[in-house]
Amino acid sequence: MTSLVIAEHDNTSIKAATLNTITAALQCGGDVHVLVAGHNAGAAATAAAQIAGVAKVIHADEAGLAHGLAENVTAQVLSIASAYSHIVFAATASGKNIAPRVAAKLDVGQVSDITKVISPDTFERPIYAGNAMATVQATDATKVLTVRTTGFDPAAATGGSAAVDSIAAVAAAASVSFLGSEIARNDRPELTSAKIIVSGGRALGSSEKFTEIITPLADKLGAAMGASRAAVDAGYAPNDWQVGQTGKIVAPQLYVACGISGAIQHLAGMKDSKVIVAINKDAEAPIFSVADYGLVADLFEAVPELVKAL
Ligand code: FAD
Repeated sequence: MTSLVIAEHDNTSIKAATLNTITAALQCGGDVHVLVAGHNAGAAATAAAQIAGVAKVIHADEAGLAHGLAENVTAQVLSIASAYSHIVFAATASGKNIAPRVAAKLDVGQVSDITKVISPDTFERPIYAGNAMATVQATDATKVLTVRTTGFDPAAATGGSAAVDSIAAVAAAASVSFLGSEIARNDRPELTSAKIIVSGGRALGSSEKFTEIITPLADKLGAAMGASRAAVDAGYAPNDWQVGQTGKIVAPQLYVACGISGAIQHLAGMKDSKVIVAINKDAEAPIFSVADYGLVADLFEAVPELVKAL
């Protein structure tokens, strides 16, 4: 039994989500191999080889693999899939794009968003926006899994010494080509890997107030900024800050929710945070049911006071 983890990387370094995915793969039992499919990605392959627990890195290098296009990475995975009992992806935008293609081509059922490995063929995954947990047994010979990264601790990025095997890259698909990307730059920690997140909700009332009230607290705490969907839909915060069922799933050490009611779809994205602080003027707000510390207060007074105290 050997698992293949598909690495997410920028051709130079391995993204944090891959470390959690490797932990999940290790829990499936057997050896764990990591596929680094990229272009001029030798540094990423070397970094993957240093991850604790990895037995082998498989490195495919070709221009068509430079940007992780799903069609090309899928073909690369399929070229070696028969050697593996488990093919494991992070449940990120990239993993969710590639895994179903691999599962469909292998004619197996994908098990999505696993949060626990119960045995090599049985997994736990949330359903109904996290309101129930399903235990799923996969009977297919090859298990194609996506991993909810917040459910697994990251593997240590160093300490391993796996061999790196270079394999031939598959020909790039003629039907797709990479045109360009626009990446929102910001100096804050990345939302899904941040240790502290300060989030704002509809209560902020405008993008100006969101910036004026939430930013100083995030600055003081060295935090990433998040938002409820209502705040994003109203244009108070950018799309990629959305936390929740249809946004990002986060589990930081500290999550501070300011003026967020705590709808189940929001809780689905943050309730696994280690410590939750909620500031809401309504003592009955559902966010208090998951909060470790709750402050019933007007955020326009409480947050600036908190910043001052910090
Ligand atoms: P509200 O529910 O309007 O709450 C605002 C809160 O602020 C209230 O509790 C109020 O008491 C408090 N407040 C008001 N003024 C102040 C003040 N001055 N000081 C302190 N507190 C104050 N939502 C998400 O967040 N993420 C998702 O991914 C998501 N996905 C969804 C998917 C589906 C299919 C659906 C149907 C909904 C989804 N939603 C999601 C929306 C979700 O149901 C809620 O509508 C949304 O989370 C509400 O955002 P909010 O808490 O900011 O706003």
